[in-house]
Amino acid sequence: MTELVDYPRRYCSICHHVVRRGFLPGPGGRPDASCPRCRSLERHRFFALLLSVLEPVLDDLGTLLEVAPSPETSPILADLAPRRHVRLDLGADNRLVDVLGSLTDLPLEESSVDLLVCYHVLEHIPDDRAAMREIARVLSPSGLGLLQVPYRAGTLTDEDPEAPVEERLRRFGQADHVRYYGDDFEDRLVESGLALQRVSPRSMLGADMSTWLHLNPDELVWIVRPADGTTVPPRTEPEPTSLTLTLSAMLGEMTRLRGELVEKRREVRALTRSMDRLRAEADRTPGIKESTRAVLAAVRRRAARTRRA
Ligand SMILES: [Zn+2]
Repeated sequence: MTELVDYPRRYCSICHHVVRRGFLPGPGGRPDASCPRCRSLERHRFFALLLSVLEPVLDDLGTLLEVAPSPETSPILADLAPRRHVRLDLGADNRLVDVLGSLTDLPLEESSVDLLVCYHVLEHIPDDRAAMREIARVLSPSGLGLLQVPYRAGTLTDEDPEAPVEERLRRFGQADHVRYYGDDFEDRLVESGLALQRVSPRSMLGADMSTWLHLNPDELVWIVRPADGTTVPPRTEPEPTSLTLTLSAMLGEMTRLRGELVEKRREVRALTRSMDRLRAEADRTPGIKESTRAVLAAVRRRAARTRRA
């Protein structure tokens, strides 16, 4: 995989363009993160891929609730063609917001939402358990929630809604965050009446494809459903699937072909150099000019064949 990791082109799964020379830096100067065409980040690009995989179960979608809509995700959610697409936020700005409201007190009936998308919102809310209970309340029995939060595996949630701004920046990474989640995030979900499943670029696409697409392989998305009395599933390494093995095999083959291409180009350069040497020699030695021309023509034909291969 090392050669493909260094491959200069990038593919964006949101705007479907191939970027010639790497992505732009993301928030905080994170290198190679933001698509220069659509500005999407790693998490948006994985979100698009995740929706594609979930599409069969999102067919004939009734109500879609998008909490804190973003310009990167709203259009791809609209592509799911839900009968109602409700974009909710606390305040309106230049984004498209349909309903003003709080996630801790949703202006929606219970069991009325078929897909709920809530990315990077819960870490802003002082009473996050109230928000989680609202998610469980409004989701329909077959409804799905897609959640993402800043999360460090193997730690406990670090939180303090009273912390001053400088401290929030230092501890939680942003002035308006009140916590940084650890493993007990999942306990909070379960206690709030949600069953959860984890999915990551690595579990869905495999490590090789995640690397090639410049996603964060272990950045988790939690798929939640309303359910009482469930437990937190054990944390295990993602098992390879038929899809991840297929994608890895495909990338392995691409790496091999790229290696062959590099080798062929090297051969063409060597042939061109020897051709130049022969030409210079022929110019210096008038007597053998004709025979050298014949040799040169043969070499040129071989170089052309190699280039075509
Ligand atoms: Zn893009």
